[in-house]
Amino acid sequence: MIHVSLSLLIFIYLGVFLTVIFSAWLRYEWVRRRRENRALRHRLRCAICALEFEDATTDLLPRCPRCGSLNERYRLRPS
Ligand SMILES: [Zn+2]
Repeated sequence: MIHVSLSLLIFIYLGVFLTVIFSAWLRYEWVRRRRENRALRHRLRCAICALEFEDATTDLLPRCPRCGSLNERYRLRPS
């Protein structure tokens, strides 16, 4: 039989518990960021009228549907 003191047992229990919570939190954060990046992949904001629109084409300079100006492609940061 293995003899373990009560304090060591509590320490091990807390360590395992915190590891599980921390890894679940990391996993959740990773999934959330992936989902957010996927949602914003084709999202653009017009530099002239600030309209946000979807553009799934591969055009270098997509055209704004409202004002018709050409926009550079850059990633929108999640606010
Ligand atoms: Zn525009």
